[in-house]
Amino acid sequence: MSNRKVVYIWEEKLIQHCDRLPAVEKRASMVHSLITAYGLLNHVIVVRSTPATYSDLKLFHSDLYLDHLKRFGQIDDEDGYMPTPEDEEYGLGYDCPPISNMYEAVATIAGSSVTAAKCLLLNLADVAINWCGGWHHAHRFGAEGFCYVNDIVIAIETLKLKYSDILYIDLDVHHGNGVQDAYNLSKSVFTLSFHKCEAGFYPGSGLIEDIGTLKGKGYMCNFPLHAFYSDATFEYAFDNVFTMVYSCFMPDAIVVQCGADALAHDPIGGAGLTIRGYSSCIQKVLDKRKPTLLLGGGGYNNSNTAKLWTSLTALVTGIELDEIIPEHCFWMNYGPDYTLSVQPLLCKDVNTREYIMHAISIVKENLSKYLQTDEIVEPLVKKRKTDEDPKPNSVISKKLDFRSENNMDVQYEVTDKTVDIYEFLD
Ligand SMILES: [Zn+2]
Repeated sequence: MSNRKVVYIWEEKLIQHCDRLPAVEKRASMVHSLITAYGLLNHVIVVRSTPATYSDLKLFHSDLYLDHLKRFGQIDDEDGYMPTPEDEEYGLGYDCPPISNMYEAVATIAGSSVTAAKCLLLNLADVAINWCGGWHHAHRFGAEGFCYVNDIVIAIETLKLKYSDILYIDLDVHHGNGVQDAYNLSKSVFTLSFHKCEAGFYPGSGLIEDIGTLKGKGYMCNFPLHAFYSDATFEYAFDNVFTMVYSCFMPDAIVVQCGADALAHDPIGGAGLTIRGYSSCIQKVLDKRKPTLLLGGGGYNNSNTAKLWTSLTALVTGIELDEIIPEHCFWMNYGPDYTLSVQPLLCKDVNTREYIMHAISIVKENLSKYLQTDEIVEPLVKKRKTDEDPKPNSVISKKLDFRSENNMDVQYEVTDKTVDIYEFLD
């Protein structure tokens, strides 16, 4: 058992909306069912999420895009729907086909990450988990790469009400382009993405040379990897880069997108991680003991994705899981071995030690050039805001009330095991 306060975001409608996302059908149910089957809900505070308001969504998205989404009611034949040229202008076609009641789905998904962020703001959680969030490709004016809404940027904007400097880490096999673009000019949000970068592989951005623009220069780090990267490569790169970025940037809060498509055997990923690789990175983040938001993301092998996010939930709560998957409604999907492990690939990791060392040296050089200014030479930390400029919760609550249509009163009941549903009341 860890002594962290861990919040787990859940809501029936949220699961239903995520289940019908075309790229990840039924995945949300499988993830939640496996977490439940292992009894992990007894070790977290389950918080019921509420939908994002229009003003929450506008923290990132344009009116035009949001208003276009509102036009979609029930679509009787989603598979047969032909996107109009206007739909396609908003990215609604090809990999993000229009779905029924799209605005409601988007508000519900974004709301789950906003709820998680609010749990950190209100000190209800040290770590907040929302496996239904993590849609890192969506941009201000439209959908992209299976992502209809960028809940991550909206959650980060919510966190900024209290935390000045936020580190965003993206572990998905795809480059976190939507979040990076949102903070290209920012020095208060540092974006760090590890991803596969190969000719023709989506989205094609995230080169090591991309380090931010103007005032944001240096506050962006991309670590491109070649195909089939293994746990050993990833852990080594992450350990070095995260340690350097953390000590130079000294974030007040950390957001991690834990996209599961870098797992071995993902049908579109082409990387070779196992649960061990992800767990070791998340453990390093947890060791910093900063308010942390863990989000989902890609992951197109549903059962492996469920195994990973269940294992990470257990890691955060300090619970050891049995290797044998417990029987539950999706149990048949875990055959033929019915075990929690994800087997590594037999393919060779083509990332050489020289390549990784060279990339690390470039990151180091950029950090010392742009972040290690005179003020942090001695000691090697920035002026801490938390001790010198405390922001009491009352002030934060006022700010939240001012900008959100949601009433932030929280009703909760604590028992020995804290398994009750905490609810944000409308
Ligand atoms: Zn992905």
